[in-house]
Amino acid sequence: MLSPKLQDALNEQINAEMWSAYLYLSMAMHFQAEGRPGFANWYSVQFQEEQAHAEILRNYVNARGGRVVLKAIDAVPTEWKNELDAFQATLEHEQKVTALINNLYAMAEAEKDYASRARLDWFVNEQVEEEDNCRTLIDRLKLIGDNGLALYTLDNELAARTYNVPSPLATAE
Ligand code: MG
Repeated sequence: MLSPKLQDALNEQINAEMWSAYLYLSMAMHFQAEGRPGFANWYSVQFQEEQAHAEILRNYVNARGGRVVLKAIDAVPTEWKNELDAFQATLEHEQKVTALINNLYAMAEAEKDYASRARLDWFVNEQVEEEDNCRTLIDRLKLIGDNGLALYTLDNELAARTYNVPSPLATAE
């Protein structure tokens, strides 16, 4: 059985992952309107990935005989100055998510809930990848500066990103 405290914290994390999804959908819509279809595509894929993160947690709470309780999703920002600004905001957000995951992990450890700790390992590793992806794009955008052709090339590259279910845990009920 999940403790009520850990169940509440996992429900909070489900909400945080859905907020992330909503944030990245907002970024996708922003870049769609700005005429950056590749950036819009990158964030649309990110939107789907975040929904999968929430699904992994929902499946886990259900598998432990817990109760998923969905909460309101807070409003998200809608405008960013440019591509670099959006990716810096993304990195900052992912660093906050990493801290949330670390807190959950510490809670699972303190409660000796080893099943929760094991499931959270997936998220610990995922956060390393999320932050690394953002840093790589931030570095490239800094190099690009105001070079329109280089930005156009990156937009084309990001248009090729496709969504893959990040883990079988996101589909198994
Ligand atoms: Mg996430």
